[in-house]
Amino acid sequence: MRFSQCYIPTLKETPAEAEVVSHKLLLRAGMVRKLTSGMYTYLPLGLRVLNKISRIIREEMQAAGYQELLMPMVQPGDLWKESGRWEHYGRELLRFKDRNERDYCLGPTHEEVVTDLVRGEVRSYRQLPVRLFQVQTKFRDEIRPRFGLMRGREFVMKDAYSFDATAQAAEKSYWECHAAYKRIFQRLGLRFRPVEADSGSIGGNFSHEFMVLAEAGEDMIAFCHDCDYAANVERAEVYHQPTGTQSGCCPTAERVATPQAHTVEEVADFLHIPVTTIIKTMIYVVDGQPVAVLVRGDRQVNDVKLKHVCHGQDVQLANAEMVTALTQAPVGFAGPLGLQIPVYADNELKAGTDYVTGANMADSHWLHVDLARDASVTAWADLRMITAEDACPRCGGRLELTRGIEVGHVFMLGRKYSDAMQATFLDEHGQEQTMIMGCYGIGVSRVAAAAIEQNHDEQGIVFPPDMAPFDCVLLNLDPRNAQTLAKAEEIYALLRKMGVDVLLDDREERPGVKFKDADLLGIPLQLIVGCKGLARGVVECKDRRSGVKGALPVDKLEDAFAAWAQEVRDGWTAQQG
Ligand code: ATP
Ligand code: MG
Repeated sequence: MRFSQCYIPTLKETPAEAEVVSHKLLLRAGMVRKLTSGMYTYLPLGLRVLNKISRIIREEMQAAGYQELLMPMVQPGDLWKESGRWEHYGRELLRFKDRNERDYCLGPTHEEVVTDLVRGEVRSYRQLPVRLFQVQTKFRDEIRPRFGLMRGREFVMKDAYSFDATAQAAEKSYWECHAAYKRIFQRLGLRFRPVEADSGSIGGNFSHEFMVLAEAGEDMIAFCHDCDYAANVERAEVYHQPTGTQSGCCPTAERVATPQAHTVEEVADFLHIPVTTIIKTMIYVVDGQPVAVLVRGDRQVNDVKLKHVCHGQDVQLANAEMVTALTQAPVGFAGPLGLQIPVYADNELKAGTDYVTGANMADSHWLHVDLARDASVTAWADLRMITAEDACPRCGGRLELTRGIEVGHVFMLGRKYSDAMQATFLDEHGQEQTMIMGCYGIGVSRVAAAAIEQNHDEQGIVFPPDMAPFDCVLLNLDPRNAQTLAKAEEIYALLRKMGVDVLLDDREERPGVKFKDADLLGIPLQLIVGCKGLARGVVECKDRRSGVKGALPVDKLEDAFAAWAQEVRDGWTAQQG
């Protein structure tokens, strides 16, 4: 491809609308343009990136026994009513009616459509497993679309589905897809980790998220230095040495004035005590019902754990009015003593006594609280966020917390949809059974953004070789010079003959402009044709990632280029670890 004939509208200035690096660089490099909130046009270069990512995904999914199909994006509401999600999915589901007043939605995911397809076709265990996937535009009316391609409303997803006859076979489909995902992200050149993820109300251990490690990630993951444990902190269990409740060994509770001390820190300052001796009482609303959650003063409540402990669907922090109505005090003075709602206490608090808690009265706290003696705890449970100081829940080893971007999710669905939608088959004894399903997503457009978050520098994008819009950019520094022009054209033809996806910068621009654009676009291999080099019989080369420059002999260019390209590739593999 010739730069002069490409639509690559690069920008010199960073557009004000962009907050994160990937968004800024995708705009500056002329790869995407915003249409409206959360919706982007992929310009030719951006589309090349998506196509390269999709190609690798397709190859690996096919190798794992999944076949590609394409389902409609618009879905009938009736199917969603059958599965029960028409009510539960929330406002991310964009619903509308057709001219006949029938309900429809834009597909945020395709469990209903694919289950409907398979139940109509499959009758016998002999027809299972069925493994299907598609690469398609999804729509989710996200409450806060942001960070460009990272969280769009319209985005490209690869979604796959497996249908099996037995739990064992379903696990096989799951783990084969899990293995395919590892190969996909490896080939894409990313530093990533599969982590245990929350599997929602379905339970079981069969959900993993694939996280690209990057500072801009919205997710936090915990991983162990001493074993292979890695989990989303939403899900990471906190391990406590089992200890009995220490009861009755502190003085009688005493109410004291704590004027204007709302936060844990303010209370600790005022009373001259460590925050760890304070119990934080948080009021939540779970499926419309208020509950109190107790954690140590310096801890954070984990909403996902709370949801599971309460067997709830929807968990929200109570608003100020509700807190006042329930505790007769402004926010900041809630406590478990005398509270007339269910009280859930974090396991960690079991090991201690003599705590300070809010007194459900403005400007007051209780001292010397012993939970077993003074409060009625509905249930003790693991309710807090894990920290880097906690021990690995699997081996007791050293944990580290780091940020990640969720680029993929594999999920053992079990019979959730097949039960609701009656996707059944006859087993070898002629008995009717329900199919066991798995679903597996990769955010194709998010992968592009995540790759840039992980790989960029001051000059611009540093694309991993297999997702870059081109393998190589060939800079002709002096297109007006007949000798340089002829050589550049000759090398361009040679590279194309070798199967290299090459962009020839043939524009009549200053060398500085060409160098800047080449760096901004992030193409892994740069070849520079100029009269100085040619006089020495070489073309210069630069590895975009390492910045290492070299010179390739013009007369042995084919071999020299191949060897150098391999070197650059090896560099990428090595940094993936
Ligand atoms: P998130 O927690 O980030 O909202 P999710 O868990 O709802 O994502 P899934 O339903 O698991 O997402 O979707 C599969 C994949 O699709 C995700 O792993 C992610 O890579 C991608 N994805 C989900 N939502 C978006 C979005 N709004 N924009 C871009 N990609 C997305
Ligand atoms: Mg997910």
